[in-house]
Amino acid sequence: MPEPSDPSAPYPPSAGPHPLLDLPPLTAARFAAIERRVAALLSTRHDVVIAQGEALLPLEGCIRAAARPGRAALNVVTGPYGSTFGGWLRDAGAEVVDLTVPFDSAVGAEQVAQALAEHPEIDFVSLVHAEAATGNTNPVAEIGEVVAAHGALFMLDAVASVGAEPLLPDAWGVDLCVIGAQKAMGGPAGVSAVAVSERAWQRIAGNPAAPRRSYLSLLDWKERWIDAGRQALPHAPAQLEMLALDACLARIEAQGAAAVAARHAAAAAASREGVLDLGLTPYVLEARWAAPVATTVRTPAGLHAGELVSAALAADPGAPLAPGGGALAAEMLRINHYGPAASPDAVHRALSALGAALHR
Ligand SMILES: *Cc1c(COP(=O)(O)O)cnc(C)c1O
Repeated sequence: MPEPSDPSAPYPPSAGPHPLLDLPPLTAARFAAIERRVAALLSTRHDVVIAQGEALLPLEGCIRAAARPGRAALNVVTGPYGSTFGGWLRDAGAEVVDLTVPFDSAVGAEQVAQALAEHPEIDFVSLVHAEAATGNTNPVAEIGEVVAAHGALFMLDAVASVGAEPLLPDAWGVDLCVIGAQKAMGGPAGVSAVAVSERAWQRIAGNPAAPRRSYLSLLDWKERWIDAGRQALPHAPAQLEMLALDACLARIEAQGAAAVAARHAAAAAASREGVLDLGLTPYVLEARWAAPVATTVRTPAGLHAGELVSAALAADPGAPLAPGGGALAAEMLRINHYGPAASPDAVHRALSALGAALHR
């Protein structure tokens, strides 16, 4: 019987049901059980909505649900996703205060406090926890205290932190906590989730501009699924992705969430140390700002990151290396040590391949 990883292999009629195709329907009960598993991973009592799409879907859904014309939002920009959020907030008519810090550092709670003090009208804050693209991570617990004291609604993009480091949305006052499974959880990219606080539901319900009867709508899920007792799914779920999400949650439970996070922390520490040993400069200036999902590296002057990564991948095509994106494409590369690559072996391969490329 062909492996599920090779769905294009010839499939003889005698082989019985195809493992990816001939599945019984995903029941509402199973869907609700997967939601509870996500809630347990996040230690949250808030409602979990599993969005039937990649994490950009609930991120955009949250912003369009919370933002409205005439209201002010603080958008903390510590990497490329913050710019995306700023665009959506402006699109939704909000007055946006961008708090941008250099991408090789992290934002401090005192900077957030100062921005809120300067703009008392702010009633929404968006923040990215860990940034896989730039390799930094922000102190959400401390920032959450500041946001709670101000009283604003708090949205967190935890796609790159979930699984890799502690994530406690309820304890940290996060009203909208968005996760995806494709990074440290080692799961599928095609479904994602958001934990929604009661306060956030009230705010969204009171916003005439919040999407309704729309694929972006969180309210639709509340009304048609949660408030209706989770008896019937509003439309056909992304079945394969839901099963993959359940499988990766089961694997994290079996390994222990603390052990999975420790594996990522160890990979990050080993990567940073190995980068320094190679005579290279970590892009993120201080180790305490370094994300456990990816270690970013500043390429030596005169050497293009794309060329260095190509040479390294020629030495070892399986090494978890990638050039930086966008404006950082020339000067930065990444060791992506998340999911299965959060291992001593993967880190060793990345460093060896980089070493070989530098030697040439
Ligand atoms: C990976 C990631 C996402 C998901 O976006 P993709 O561009 O589809 O990978 C969202 N937010 C953050 C912070 C991420 O690292």
